[in-house]
Amino acid sequence: MTLKEYNKKRNFKKTNEPEGKKKTAGKKIYVIQKHSASHLHYDLRLEFNGTLKSWAIPKIPPKTKGVKRLAVETENHPIDYAKFHGIIPEGNYGAGKVEIWDNGTYELIEKDDKKIVVIIHGKKLSGEYVLVKTHYGSKPEKSWLFFRTK
Ligand code: MN
Repeated sequence: MTLKEYNKKRNFKKTNEPEGKKKTAGKKIYVIQKHSASHLHYDLRLEFNGTLKSWAIPKIPPKTKGVKRLAVETENHPIDYAKFHGIIPEGNYGAGKVEIWDNGTYELIEKDDKKIVVIIHGKKLSGEYVLVKTHYGSKPEKSWLFFRTK
């Protein structure tokens, strides 16, 4: 999903979240935001082509091998969103607290429509991680599995 959809869902006069604009520079951004919305989840975001490709992970992301997490693809977010933390006010899309749970950079190893392999250099997560398409969950067309391989 696109930045246009991201912008459409939000009123930037009422939320402190950044407005969606494309841009890119330097190392590729990796961030996970803990989002205490109606359901607590962890938003994994990886920089691709000037935006942050995003997935919502309903449970705490795995630091070690052997744990696979469902990761539901959400709309791309603007690069500036990687620094966002704070409160999205009641009545707005995603209302609730956003905290930066982990951040750093990543290296892309492999990517196609069904599989993304990255090396994450974060503080909590560090090592090789994979995202693979799955049909599990309530939104099968947007469902991926996220896990550590090395
Ligand atoms: Mn979220």
